[in-house]
Amino acid sequence: MLTDNFLSNFWQGFAVEDFYIDRDKLRIKLIPHKTACCGRCGLMGNSIHDISERKVRDLSCFEYKTYLIIQVRRVNCLVCGVRTEHIPWLAPYSRVTKRLKNYTEALCRILPISHVSNLLGLHWTTVKDIDKGRLIREVTEPDYSRIKQLVMDEFALHKGHRYATVIADANTQQVLWIGEGRARKNIRPFFEELGEYCQNIEAVAMDMNTSFDLEVKEHCPHAEVVYDLFHVIAKYGREVIDRVRVDRANELKEDKKARKVVKQGRWLLLKNKSNLRGSQEIKLQELLQANKPLAVVYMMKQALKDIWFCPTVKEAFNNWRYWFKQVKESGIKPLENFARKLRPYVRGILASSKFPLNTSVLEGMNNKIKVIKRMAYGYRDSTYFFLKIRDAFPGKP
Ligand SMILES: [Zn+2]
Repeated sequence: MLTDNFLSNFWQGFAVEDFYIDRDKLRIKLIPHKTACCGRCGLMGNSIHDISERKVRDLSCFEYKTYLIIQVRRVNCLVCGVRTEHIPWLAPYSRVTKRLKNYTEALCRILPISHVSNLLGLHWTTVKDIDKGRLIREVTEPDYSRIKQLVMDEFALHKGHRYATVIADANTQQVLWIGEGRARKNIRPFFEELGEYCQNIEAVAMDMNTSFDLEVKEHCPHAEVVYDLFHVIAKYGREVIDRVRVDRANELKEDKKARKVVKQGRWLLLKNKSNLRGSQEIKLQELLQANKPLAVVYMMKQALKDIWFCPTVKEAFNNWRYWFKQVKESGIKPLENFARKLRPYVRGILASSKFPLNTSVLEGMNNKIKVIKRMAYGYRDSTYFFLKIRDAFPGKP
């Protein structure tokens, strides 16, 4: 019988009764050597009701995965009745020691769950639940009184048709709220939470074709809806540039070489011009010179973008009118269709002159959420996934 040796220092109130090594596992048997105190009220000196054995994981010792087999007592507390005793290094019902829990939390800050799970040999849901507990503790509640401008966006939750909506402070980039769904009623809880501070909201950036604008107008009487450049340009890429490029490639059926250049030009056309290297820029120029409709829709993309950055609403409106006139004269069908669909939203485009919300916020958020989703693939725990997102966007002071 071993008691009070060096090892006992690690488990307050317990002594090591026995330990043995079984291949890569170290098992340590612990027995309590102090009077039990009630786990609820802390009262000492109660009689023992019963004793059961619990198997618990601790941090690994050297190269061994370490398991503790401990005797857990239940006491007849005079105040609370039958209660499990208080163990300072083990949370109630927990299968891992506080020490291992802290270490797991630290790893989860930098690694995906699956890596932490492999590294520690803990079950994946155990790791997830530990990380979730940390996030519930750490993710800070926003200060609604300071918020003036919002950005809203939707993203796909899983493959299939389930969506979620994310709402952030446009200035600090703190994610304020996330909820499942993308209908008006799904985002209502956010505005109810915002309460009286809805009055302070002066601008909200969002994608077109959502039902968000109606809900915003209902709750925030002073808010101007601003349509986000990033989404409009992405749509332009899909509905105009891609369409014209495919049509052009079909026209060039006989000329294999020219056809190939057009077919492969997608990336060059959709990319920001400032992000192209020298040789890519030359390729782009050749592509545009040989294909007039492509050159037109490419230039019209830039002209459309410029509307967002006009210093005044008046100038933006003039630019818009000129753009629209050019579209009609172009004779390019996909471009005309796009412009016609865009027209009802023009107010929200011109509003960007008054409220130049940084659209890269939404683009950046969109990309980061995709990364978190990849790390979170298969969690099927939306609460956890949403906490992960809020944790990744704590906001700049
Ligand atoms: Zn008690």
